[in-house]
Amino acid sequence: MSVIVEEEMAKMTNHIIQQPKGRFALLNGRVILPWQVVTGQAVVVEGQKIIGVAGVDSLGAEVEKIDVGGRYVTSGLMDIHVHGALGCTFNEPTPQAFATVTEEHAQHGVTSLLATIATAPLPDLVKCLEFTRQWMSEPHKGAQVLGAHLEGPYFSMAQKGAQDPQNIRTPDDGTPDILLEQHDVLKIMTYAPELPGALALTARLAGLGIVPAAGHSSARDEDVRAAMQAGLRHIIHVWSSQSSTVREGPWRKPGLLEATLVFDGLTVEMIADNKHLPPTLMKLAYKCIGPDRLCLISDATSGAGLPEGARFRLGGMEYEVHDGVGMMFDRSSLAGSATFVNRMAPILVDVVGIPLVEAVRMATRTPARVIGVADRKGSLEAGKDADIAIFDDDFTAWRTMIGGRWAYAATVSYELNSCTKAGKTLTQSRKAAKEFLSVLCAFA
Ligand SMILES: [Zn+2]
Repeated sequence: MSVIVEEEMAKMTNHIIQQPKGRFALLNGRVILPWQVVTGQAVVVEGQKIIGVAGVDSLGAEVEKIDVGGRYVTSGLMDIHVHGALGCTFNEPTPQAFATVTEEHAQHGVTSLLATIATAPLPDLVKCLEFTRQWMSEPHKGAQVLGAHLEGPYFSMAQKGAQDPQNIRTPDDGTPDILLEQHDVLKIMTYAPELPGALALTARLAGLGIVPAAGHSSARDEDVRAAMQAGLRHIIHVWSSQSSTVREGPWRKPGLLEATLVFDGLTVEMIADNKHLPPTLMKLAYKCIGPDRLCLISDATSGAGLPEGARFRLGGMEYEVHDGVGMMFDRSSLAGSATFVNRMAPILVDVVGIPLVEAVRMATRTPARVIGVADRKGSLEAGKDADIAIFDDDFTAWRTMIGGRWAYAATVSYELNSCTKAGKTLTQSRKAAKEFLSVLCAFA
């Protein structure tokens, strides 16, 4: 096959995917359910919903059958803390930025996410929240935006991380009123619970059905306990921008980190890119918190999806993708992640030694429970939304389905590459490419 033909086919595939019509079944997959991986079972879908997981023999002749070639079939991944990709972020309230980010994450098996908005001037935050609402009211191709995660602006200056210090404030200044006018679009709000006015903010958020979350904080464990009394229940990126134990005279005073590891009433996010945290710390978080309260997040910046050495902006600062992670030019500090959530599951399995079903649960069912959508998302179960990701052995996404429609299919050149990797002959590769193309027709 000539390079030109191959490129043309790849281009076509990006735009043309055969959409299933009527009831269909995904066959020949290793189906990752919340508690086990099963084979010889088909995931049956009709319209926007999963009908169930059933034996192949029980499928009627009228059911369209799609062979997934032995790949993993999982519930679509859910990323509840993600800023951007490919040079764009959710801090840009434009269709182009939101489309770029959501489509790029869909290409990595992410079917839903929270548009995560970092600290910025208040009018900008309001604009981003308003735009998120508008975006959610219309159908789009990429990962579904389930709401906003507002990361800021009420943070501890000592734990600001990459958040813009010029716009960090305290929640007793009256400004929560302005932000909470947008409460219907907010799913998570992260703040430092030790700040003046933070307990009142916690109670307001809980009352509005928004998940109160702690982060970028210098809290002591007693501050966390008090906030939990007021409704705090979630913690963002364990170890990153968290206070930890200090000595006061002879006495040790635990910080937010230890509270995160120990308090059972909290759900917790972990950036499992093997850059922010070494394997020992990831294992420690897993041992303390477990797969049903610890969820995987990308915290991906606009640097995600950009090549090594690419520069990207975060707030008013410029950073670089270095060694697969966002980095300050002087290499003194990390500046956000460049890893998509699908790449974190194999890290947990291969590097940390966590069972595959648990690693996948941490990127599906657990985040769905954190934001209260587990009744309709986060697992391959009858009645849930047909949000499905199909992965190769290394968790490269082969196809992504959102609400019963294909949102992404790997290109022909990708298919040829995997054939070559698998040591197949050119004829076999051509045959695979042909079969792949034969399923393509107009995007209905
Ligand atoms: Zn973040």
